[in-house]
Amino acid sequence: MFVVKVGGSEGIDYDAFIKDLLNHNNYIIVHGGSSELNEVSTKLGKPPKFVESVSGYTSRFTDRETMDIFNMIYAGKMNKMIVEKMQQININAIGLSGIDGRLIEGKKKRSLKIIENGKKKILRGDMSGMIEKINHNLIELLLQNGYTPVITPPAISYEGEAINVDGDRCAGQIAVSVKADQLIILSNIPGLLKDPNNEATLIRKIRIDEIDFNIENYAKGRMKKKLLGAKEAIEGGVKSVILGDARISSPITAALNGNGTIIE
Ligand code: ADP
Repeated sequence: MFVVKVGGSEGIDYDAFIKDLLNHNNYIIVHGGSSELNEVSTKLGKPPKFVESVSGYTSRFTDRETMDIFNMIYAGKMNKMIVEKMQQININAIGLSGIDGRLIEGKKKRSLKIIENGKKKILRGDMSGMIEKINHNLIELLLQNGYTPVITPPAISYEGEAINVDGDRCAGQIAVSVKADQLIILSNIPGLLKDPNNEATLIRKIRIDEIDFNIENYAKGRMKKKLLGAKEAIEGGVKSVILGDARISSPITAALNGNGTIIE
């Protein structure tokens, strides 16, 4: 069993990704939608706002209006696009967001502590949170009955509100909860790069005890969360995490064959 997370950045070849699914069985899909969300929210007159937390991680400021657009893109457009394409090749996909059946449950953050122009600031009105529980019974029920889950944020808070959670960390927690052997994280890059602007600087292998070093020294912006998701997956018992390229043909097979960055 493996979990494959396909990103939401520009350049990802969803057709190649979905075609490659025919070469595999026993998997769960998690997906993102960030670049599509940026585009649509800008068109709707609500351009994205990114904030930097005091611990150095970047995240999307998600007020109620942003959450509504987030649902339109992640649980709507992106999720149904993937499910539709899978149905066209006779894979019985079922799309779920984390709020459906309380699939991904977590704690809503009371406030966001951010750094703006070098100063610490508290932001309120943000609907984001930390994943704490995966309803793996629901996932297993679907798998046992021949459905392939296609899962997307948002998650749900204990109070029943939608909360924005990171897709890569979501995939990591899902992989742990279903005791997956591998977690594959596909994005628009060949893997973790020493220099994000130079694809020749791909790091091929990272031992789990080297991951913090790589988070601090090489990963910038959203790549940090991918490594954090990988770290949480390995610590939770997943055997290996592969960061692979989603712009190529057969991206899943390539990743399972060792192309990309392998974290063990
Ligand atoms: P997705 O939406 O596909 O999940 P993200 O856009 O969130 O992916 O993250 C991938 C991006 O991370 C890359 O496109 C790249 O710009 C950025 N990045 C930052 N640091 C690195 C690094 N060291 N190696 C590779 N990519 C990096």
